[in-house]
Amino acid sequence: MPSPDARRRVQARLDELHERCRAEPPGAVQRYYASGRGYYPPNEAGVESEHFAIAGVTIDGDVHEVGDAEHVFPLQSLSKVFSYALALADRGREHVLARVGVEPSGDAFNSLRFDERHKRPFNPMVNAGALVTSELVAGDDADERLARILAVLRACAGNEALAVDPETFAGELATADHNRGTAYLMRSLGMLHGDAEEVLRLYLQQCSVGVTARDLAVLAATLADGGVNPLTGDQVLPRRLVRDVLSVMYSCGMYDFAGSWSFDVGLPAKSGVSGGIFAVIPGKFGIGVFSPGLDAYGNSVRGIDVCSELSDRLGLHVFATEQEDAVLARAAAAS
Ligand code: GLN
Repeated sequence: MPSPDARRRVQARLDELHERCRAEPPGAVQRYYASGRGYYPPNEAGVESEHFAIAGVTIDGDVHEVGDAEHVFPLQSLSKVFSYALALADRGREHVLARVGVEPSGDAFNSLRFDERHKRPFNPMVNAGALVTSELVAGDDADERLARILAVLRACAGNEALAVDPETFAGELATADHNRGTAYLMRSLGMLHGDAEEVLRLYLQQCSVGVTARDLAVLAATLADGGVNPLTGDQVLPRRLVRDVLSVMYSCGMYDFAGSWSFDVGLPAKSGVSGGIFAVIPGKFGIGVFSPGLDAYGNSVRGIDVCSELSDRLGLHVFATEQEDAVLARAAAAS
């Protein structure tokens, strides 16, 4: 564990970052999303839109939070990471790869374009791919499959209270025409094999699990430590499988902004239309951000700002070597 002084310094930096991002006019916000209502314009956003939280959790379990860190919001697309992990654990890498690819699609998350050559969705981070991974989760029926997905989420978040929010789920189900269409189209193409309504419900139930920014940071920290939950110390996902999951998050986690994100921020991450983003700093820590104002891609504007700034200031980009260069230059100058 870091010294109280080091902890205070980290907390002060996060407080300052939160304050600064909060003060900036969210100019790039194009829309908000509410389950049951779909997208709505910024001029209709009430106080809800002002929620803003940042959380960081190290792999040693040191927790930092700032802002509305207790505010609960739906997991939405961030759930795709964990149903994919579970599908890999249940069916194995080859079986899952045969049904859903690992290629960035370059399309919006709800696109109806598939990988024609291999007759599968491009990747598990877009809706079509997540419908397949939901179907691949083992279980005798939909209830058992959902229970198993919830168990993985709870274990990875170290939070037994995580649950599907019934109101969110009802809203998602009432406005699911596009996802329903996707499921039926995929079934007609042989990409989904089971009951399209059942798999749709399972997918939307995962999307409707309520979480906080702190939960996101713990989920990310668990992935940062190869599947070891930093709060409980339990190995909740196999290490090898986490590597696969992080690879897909790196190339496909931020919708059709994934290339720019990897280029600029350089961290495996996933976002959801509720305004959550989590980013993984392998071997170090996890970041969770919540701010519901979305850009044109459906990513949280402040979430991107926070992660970009942290990556830049702390030299977190997975390919960054500048920090070491700076240390060497200082050492050379001092000698
Ligand atoms: N429930 C949303 C949908 O399926 C989740 C998508 C998202 O977060 N990008 O459309």
